[in-house]
Amino acid sequence: MGEFELIRHYFAAAPCAQGGEGVALGIGDDGALLDLSPGEQLAISTDTLVAGVHFPESCDPFLLGQRALGVSVSDLAAMGATPIGFTLAITLPNADAAWLQAFASGLDRMAQACAIRLIGGDTTRGPLSLTLSVFGRVPSGMALTRGGAQEGDLLCVGGDLGDAAGALPLVLGQREAPAAIAEPLLARYWAPQPQLALGQALRGNATAALDISDGLLADCGHIATASQVALQIDQARVPLSAALIALAGQEAALHYALAGGDDYLLAFTLPVARLLDMQAAGWPVRVIGRVVAGVGVQLLDADGLEIRPPRSGYQHFGLSSD
Ligand code: ADP
Ligand code: MG
Repeated sequence: MGEFELIRHYFAAAPCAQGGEGVALGIGDDGALLDLSPGEQLAISTDTLVAGVHFPESCDPFLLGQRALGVSVSDLAAMGATPIGFTLAITLPNADAAWLQAFASGLDRMAQACAIRLIGGDTTRGPLSLTLSVFGRVPSGMALTRGGAQEGDLLCVGGDLGDAAGALPLVLGQREAPAAIAEPLLARYWAPQPQLALGQALRGNATAALDISDGLLADCGHIATASQVALQIDQARVPLSAALIALAGQEAALHYALAGGDDYLLAFTLPVARLLDMQAAGWPVRVIGRVVAGVGVQLLDADGLEIRPPRSGYQHFGLSSD
């Protein structure tokens, strides 16, 4: 199968590539065209996933397609943006029909869930890797950034942390667990659900936001740096799922939550006055700490004393501490 037939059959023919709101021109020309309304800005983010680094070489292609897009769209959620379209640059060792069909189905599943359309891409031969760029709309000046956290704000997260990192030994086949424990954790790894509605609800409310991809401590460090403040995290308030505690025990579960990564949930800072409204409206806002003067991230025990944190976050080019 040639490159063009492959593109046509598996990608241009996918339901998510049939255009939609904001897509003036999709796959098939030299570039795509997106419509924006006056008073809107385009939010853009790119992520690359490399086989053997970001996902196991021989993983299920449906799950890979689903996860790759979920991970990318999570950045739009973190900006408070509404998805419009995405491009897919895919490098494949060979054109395996069954693999491509399943991959495209997984991609389509997540695209439907996020209301985002495939608008273009590139197809090349080589070691398996994926680069997805996502495009979304946001009212001008309203995007959530990492830079606005204010002293006195609350530090919040959008749900239980550590599940995906805790699932990794299951993903890699290094351990097994009963279905009641394994299934919810594996779902958090393979089908991250970008918190798009929460991100949009945080516009005009949160002072800073990001999506947690490299672990809570490492990512809170990014807010602290960009906002020139310090963030305090009360260790006992870090939300953990029952499934993760059942799999790993309390101590390891907490470690996964603090330093594991792959959560793709939002972390954000919220003025105290906005908390009750957000919670009353039913948004998943879990307070885990506060913004104070200073630099960096402090982890506090129940008495408010600082705990030396575990090595935080995943970095491709070296260790972050010790
Ligand atoms: P060009 O030579 O102009 O770069 P290509 O031959 O690479 O164009 O691609 C032809 C069309 O197919 C373009 O519209 C491109 O965006 C689209 N396309 C290529 N690969 C993919 C892919 N993996 N997924 C979606 N669209 C793709
Ligand atoms: Mg090309």
